[in-house]
Amino acid sequence: MNSPLYMTLKDEICEMIEWLASYGKTENGGVTRLLYTKEWYDAQQALKEKMETFGITTYFDDVGNLFGRLEGTEDREKVILTGSHVDTVIDGGKYDGAYGILASLLAAKTLFAKYGSPKKTIEVVSLCEEEGSRFPLAFWGSGNITGRYTIKDVQTYKDVNGVVFLDAMFRLGFGKGRYKTPQRTNIESFIEVHIEQGEVLEKSDKSVGIVSDIVGQKRWQIEVKGESNHAGTTPMNLRKDALKMASELIVAVSKLAVEKFPGLVATVGHIEAVPNVGNVIAGNVLFSLDIRHHQKEVLAAYCQSVMMYIDEISKREKMDILVAEAVDISPVHMDEQGTELLLNIASDKSISYKKMVSGAGHDSQVFGTYCPTSLIFVPSRDGISHSPKEYTKADDLENGIIMLMEMLYRAAY
Ligand SMILES: [Zn+2]
Repeated sequence: MNSPLYMTLKDEICEMIEWLASYGKTENGGVTRLLYTKEWYDAQQALKEKMETFGITTYFDDVGNLFGRLEGTEDREKVILTGSHVDTVIDGGKYDGAYGILASLLAAKTLFAKYGSPKKTIEVVSLCEEEGSRFPLAFWGSGNITGRYTIKDVQTYKDVNGVVFLDAMFRLGFGKGRYKTPQRTNIESFIEVHIEQGEVLEKSDKSVGIVSDIVGQKRWQIEVKGESNHAGTTPMNLRKDALKMASELIVAVSKLAVEKFPGLVATVGHIEAVPNVGNVIAGNVLFSLDIRHHQKEVLAAYCQSVMMYIDEISKREKMDILVAEAVDISPVHMDEQGTELLLNIASDKSISYKKMVSGAGHDSQVFGTYCPTSLIFVPSRDGISHSPKEYTKADDLENGIIMLMEMLYRAAY
């Protein structure tokens, strides 16, 4: 291990990524750190100690979000919050969430060592949960801070082993009012650094992404109701083939996106045919349609076009098609001033960057509807994430921290 005196930011972040990944390390080099497990608890405790060795004051809130506070000398009340989530998916990577916490921690630590206390309060946060990989809800950490969730929302949840959400929480001392109330009203802004989890930055050879918007998402369940019948004795003109109709629809929704709605992504990833037998015409087909874009109007226009097409083909083929909406998440616009500032910082520091839209949500999606929020990306090799193969180059990790540090400096010092 290098002596901290001679360590560069790049060395430090690389070392800390490995250090945090040791909590919940899996056999194949991945990380499993699910909410309220031992690995999760140990990681939060280790982060707490690390913050304290840097001279940062720490505290937990009652759901287990960990905060490191540099109190402002002029404005103590309003908080500039920066961080990401400490939980992972099962056998996930070392960088997802973890990098954002460590980037925030190193930025705060470096600023504090160099310039002392900020004028405005900075808090680094290690959010307890984002992924939804243990219990069937996501954004538990940011959701509690912003008031989207309270403990009442999780009363009935259990994990796959039948462990009750609240029991898992109580066992570690959280959820009993021993710590600070999670919901906050004093957060002035939120800044998150995160790996891209896609390959836009790598393909365009840029070191950081400055996110202007986070896409909204709709997910539909589409059911085509035809008629099951004998594959040999039913002439083609007398069929109500639900699978043939579904195929037409699937091709059409994709074509529509490509030809008329640039930037929109539409995906059919799940399909079930009934009875799903080789010599029987499918009587019923159910498939999913996932639609994402960063502008609400575009999402709405696309959905309208799809509905019109469904209507038309349903009448033509005399088959019923039912559409149910399973997910409806609005796009979130990142803080324009923050985005502008980040663009300036990247130019000033000669860091190659791309202004971009995020196709994934992150905690910034939750904070973005609550306070001015900024999101900085660094590239993911081959776009791979949620896998032990997740990797980001040290230079890029460092650039992400420089961007954040400069932003915090300009906002708080
Ligand atoms: Zn993440």
